[in-house]
Amino acid sequence: MKKCKLCASDRVKIIYNGPIRNGGLGKYTYKDIPIYQCENCNVIWHEKEVINDLAKYYQSKDYRNSLEGGSEEEDFYRLHDKENLNKFQYTGTDIFRHKRIADVGCGCGAFLDFIRGAAEMVIAIEPSEVYRDIMSKKGYVTYPYAADAKKFLKGKMDIVTSFDVIEHVEDPLAFLQDIYDLLDIGGRGIIGTPTDAPVMRMLLGELFERKLLFSTQHLWIFSENNLKDMSERIGFDDIKVRYFQRYGIENMLGWLRDKEPKRDGALPFSADTLSEVWKKQCEVYKAADYIVLYVKKSRRLT
Ligand SMILES: [Zn+2]
Repeated sequence: MKKCKLCASDRVKIIYNGPIRNGGLGKYTYKDIPIYQCENCNVIWHEKEVINDLAKYYQSKDYRNSLEGGSEEEDFYRLHDKENLNKFQYTGTDIFRHKRIADVGCGCGAFLDFIRGAAEMVIAIEPSEVYRDIMSKKGYVTYPYAADAKKFLKGKMDIVTSFDVIEHVEDPLAFLQDIYDLLDIGGRGIIGTPTDAPVMRMLLGELFERKLLFSTQHLWIFSENNLKDMSERIGFDDIKVRYFQRYGIENMLGWLRDKEPKRDGALPFSADTLSEVWKKQCEVYKAADYIVLYVKKSRRLT
């Protein structure tokens, strides 16, 4: 019998079995991929059947190309600089000054470039060699993985951030452990990951799951329960989550109209005001498309 890969419960069901997104929008796997969900801890996952050597894959240009249609530095900034308003919403702007910060999965540093001016020390952790080279040229100290960084910087970080990474890793517990190990006593981790976007699943069902939600790159879809549970098991304290809705109401309306994800989300009327209410509503009802985990390391575990 299949067991949950996080909590070992045998209450596991298949919630989807079909083609899933493979890279960017509109690209699908040729074979059906079963998606599992644990009824105990709610985590959703698939086995990494499509990508054989995950580490190699994330270090390659193929990955960025399949996802974003380019691996060059300027492409990266064009796509990711605009995410910083969201990221600063998750972190606030008052925690970085004179602190030692590591960002896990930093890419070309769209976020770290903004942090560096305030921080005492900034560490860039990124598996892609191309991006690491770019970061080195910009003067950053880089490591491929947190596990590499902690060989030199165990207990040295005040803040470790990681956005849109934990859903890609094979062993999320080990990933959180590495963050724990990097942190000094009193240090904090801030880890963001997409949710299963419950409202979109409710409205669009399998269409949304196939075209967007389930993808070969995302091995996991986490939720409040399993994020908190993993954090407790590792020994973190002061464990909290907050929900954030990234996509506005025009995105949902576009989906409903066209049965396709909208790249720009533009509709022929302004939905900004409505979107603000919509986002708040999704967040209050814990139905938003993004969840951020906040953890603190209060004690040294042996
Ligand atoms: Zn479970």
